[in-house]
Amino acid sequence: MLVLDSISGFRAARAKLGRLAFVPTMGALHAGHMSLVHEARRHAPHVAVSIFVNPTQFGPTEDFTKYPRPIEDDLRMCRDAGVDCVFTPTAAEMYPAGVPITLLDLPPLTKTLEGRFRPTHFAGVCVVVLKLFNIVSPQIACFGEKDFQQLAVIRAMVKSLDLPIDIVGCPTFREADGLAMSSRNRYLNADERRRALSISRGLFAVQELARSGEISCEVLRRELRRHLEHAGDLPHVPTSIDYATVVDRDHLSELTTLDRPARAVVAMRVGTTRLIDNVPVNPN
Ligand code: AMP
Repeated sequence: MLVLDSISGFRAARAKLGRLAFVPTMGALHAGHMSLVHEARRHAPHVAVSIFVNPTQFGPTEDFTKYPRPIEDDLRMCRDAGVDCVFTPTAAEMYPAGVPITLLDLPPLTKTLEGRFRPTHFAGVCVVVLKLFNIVSPQIACFGEKDFQQLAVIRAMVKSLDLPIDIVGCPTFREADGLAMSSRNRYLNADERRRALSISRGLFAVQELARSGEISCEVLRRELRRHLEHAGDLPHVPTSIDYATVVDRDHLSELTTLDRPARAVVAMRVGTTRLIDNVPVNPN
């Protein structure tokens, strides 16, 4: 497995490979990331992973400096999964001093949900993903449904800029108890980890209600909030909900009636850790 930290080095290695599937990540890899790698392998004979904690997608008060960077573990997981090339640039390689950063934005998709709480986030995501696409030159790129809005934004960017890359969305990989895998789960202590389970519980409950025929999104939202707010024996764990709602699958606009494919989406802080999750919700 090749590990390259310079753009020119990566491009030289990539030029020797044919059809390539790409999995961009910020590292602190877990089984959810590796499910993307396995999916990537189904689409192309060669797979590249990038590991880059992208400063431009973090807000000034967010966890950029404390974001976990266990690079040796990450590389071992990539090697075990048969990845061909890993791109591990520094921030200075991606954003050299003195070179202005192109800003990319795609309203209105980038303004709802996450965009309301992280106003500069998707501009940072778009610029880094476009730069990575230009460096890696993949035919396929795999993204997780765990970050459902990000997947929608990337699909929209690829379409709007005519990028010759197929975007593959991959289902959310969960722990056995339902918690969506996330690099940020390692910030949670035992009580917070248990309190965080109300997120997947609430989302599954909404799915169940919809399956049983409920079409009022107000009722679905209320059920979701009821689960999120249920502290049980953990009232000492602080939580706050950024959003908990049901949105149109394609436009991410809030729905009143479940009359089309939708997504139940949550962003909630548990302790000081902000977690997001979502599930498909379909009218039956
Ligand atoms: P990140 O390292 O958090 O930027 O994530 C890199 C890629 O992995 C993104 O496309 C995420 O949506 C995806 N991902 C993160 N967690 C999961 C998960 N639990 N299941 C599936 N994909 C995931």
